[in-house]
Amino acid sequence: MTTETESAYTPAQLEALAADAARELEEASAQEIMRWAAETFGRRLAVTSSMEDAVVAHLASTALPGIDVIFLDTGYHFVETIGTRDAVAATMPVNVITLTPRQSVAEQDAEYGPRLHDRDPDLCCKLRKVEPLNRGLAGYDAWATGLRRDESPTRANTPVVAYDPKRQKVKIAPIARWTQEDVDAYVAANGILLNPLLFDGYASIGCSPESCTRRVLEGEDARSGRWAGAGKTECGIHL
Ligand code: SF4
Repeated sequence: MTTETESAYTPAQLEALAADAARELEEASAQEIMRWAAETFGRRLAVTSSMEDAVVAHLASTALPGIDVIFLDTGYHFVETIGTRDAVAATMPVNVITLTPRQSVAEQDAEYGPRLHDRDPDLCCKLRKVEPLNRGLAGYDAWATGLRRDESPTRANTPVVAYDPKRQKVKIAPIARWTQEDVDAYVAANGILLNPLLFDGYASIGCSPESCTRRVLEGEDARSGRWAGAGKTECGIHL
């Protein structure tokens, strides 16, 4: 159900909408935030999912059945992640859209050399995540993500609604204020699909190379297993 309609908003209007909503919805529930987003943007709203779990996809589908759920297939995912995507597509009232990079892994290896993720993960993420997402979001006014303030110090100030000036879109984080306990309670109450790797020591699931995703140790924050030791904390789509 990709969007073919023209945007009803100019970038300046989107920015003003986001500023008002950030103030008005800071204390709102995740469900209220998603309802506002669905009513405001309709089919020009999408959700992105790493397929770590289907929490935000579920929240979004209750506000807007059939909503587009965007998955970035980097070519480096764990098979469990691809399986979770397929299960979400088969069982939930959402429209899963898989975005792929311009180059296959083999083509990237030929141009940049093998294992770019070990040598220059910022460039690898730019080619395999940021560029495809920027392309994929072109037909939307707003996108919702599963960012949470308690995931890491770098996400501690995540607004529930913000304007993303680089993409000229409204960015919504309906569960920004949730704790891990809130997530667990929602998962249990709604039978939410989870990536099986969450039961195998992984707390934040990205690409499969060891330099990109490893299991977390006791006491570490959820995202400490991402690009561990590389001085990198985000892939770039949330910067
Ligand atoms: S997470 Fe790793 S493999 Fe995936 S796009 Fe980023 S650097 Fe490349």
